[in-house]
Amino acid sequence: MSEKKVKLAWDELKISEQEGQAIIEYLSFLSKGKTERESWQIIEEWACQEGFIPLDDVDNFKPGQKVRLAVRGKAGILAIAGLRPLNEGFRLIATHLDAPRLDIKQRPLYEEEGLAFLKTHYYGGIKKYQWMALPLALHGVIILRDGHKVEIVIGEEEEDPIFTISDLLPHLSKDQYNKKLREAISGEGLNLLLGHNPSTGEGEERVKSAILIILKDKYRIEEDDFVSAELEVVPAGKARYAGLDRSFIAGYGQDDRICSFAAWKALEGIEQSEWTTIVLFADKEEIGSDSNTGMKARFLENFIAELITLQNGNYDGLMVRRSLARAKALSADVTGGYDPNYAEVMDKRNSAFLGRGLVISKYTGSGGKYDTSDANPEFVAEVRRIFDEAKISWQTAELGKIDQGGGGTIAQYMAIYGMEVLDCGVGILSMHAPWEISSIADLVMMIRGYHAFLKY
Ligand code: MN
Ligand code: MN
Repeated sequence: MSEKKVKLAWDELKISEQEGQAIIEYLSFLSKGKTERESWQIIEEWACQEGFIPLDDVDNFKPGQKVRLAVRGKAGILAIAGLRPLNEGFRLIATHLDAPRLDIKQRPLYEEEGLAFLKTHYYGGIKKYQWMALPLALHGVIILRDGHKVEIVIGEEEEDPIFTISDLLPHLSKDQYNKKLREAISGEGLNLLLGHNPSTGEGEERVKSAILIILKDKYRIEEDDFVSAELEVVPAGKARYAGLDRSFIAGYGQDDRICSFAAWKALEGIEQSEWTTIVLFADKEEIGSDSNTGMKARFLENFIAELITLQNGNYDGLMVRRSLARAKALSADVTGGYDPNYAEVMDKRNSAFLGRGLVISKYTGSGGKYDTSDANPEFVAEVRRIFDEAKISWQTAELGKIDQGGGGTIAQYMAIYGMEVLDCGVGILSMHAPWEISSIADLVMMIRGYHAFLKY
């Protein structure tokens, strides 16, 4: 580390009043938006207030025009038309709104020995033991047979009950202690404790029957309705400052909502720019970007086709391809922050340190750069220049030591179109854990850096 003097983001930071406000807004964003739907809903409301018009309602894409597209209520795109025609390219920052969690199964409810449970199916890369014996909340939607949508949030208000998954007492964990960490808790063992009061129930399974009565009375749902539900178990409670010096933010889902928030903030400050500026919020990144709300779906391409058509008056497929291929993009995602407690898995010379600003990763992937977009050095140089000119503290990092594991982002699915794309986010401690830790200095630098990129 001696060759290059370490630059801390903190030293040059001087957080403005507006940025101070943004930090508070970020805490509230994390506390309220715990699913991709909830997060998108908040962003869409902000965008609506800032004059972003639904794509279906706009009849032009002239410079300064603000457009928004919601994708199945779980993903979306925001765009501001630039002075140059769209077929010359655009600036894009793409983030994701989904986070690792436990989903509720489609046939979840059962009773055993007087206890009622909901079965879960974990979503994304979780360490299962982290989800035991802590307060959990239930968020999501249930779509009834007639199409009516029931929205559920239980476990966030003071008076709400919370849920939990019971863990084994240490006194009887002799066998469990000898298991591998990965096998100590099974996927089918992640069952949410739901109740044990049989008094209103009837029949063979009185507790389950009593739970069904509550579901019917309070939420109008029946047992079969779980089949068409999207219910997510997430950590209960609000995001908050961490550390005696209040320099960290602790909260669920900062992978990747810290980038989503920063990208929105960066876009919010733009009225008009040379290039069309676009911010995209994808779903399903944590499980490989499949599904029609994930980055492998074509909603970006379709969106550009719509905008080109608005701008030209007619659909021109070649213009759409040119626009996408000439775009310059940041794949905005977090990476594992350097943790001195686990120094053995990191390459110190190529790590993301908390408090040292934005992180660029030329590539992610695993096993010798598999499953990644390896950014072109020409484009990396361009981004370096943008950040340096804007006085952004930045660093470069890989996700841990070679062959220690690894992971991907949506960059590779953006690169398919031919656009220049570089991974760029911040380092996170306890990444993918129920409570993730980020640095306030890095958050502020990220907002500034993303803004500089969009305006460039
Ligand atoms: Mn991510
Ligand atoms: Mn992730």
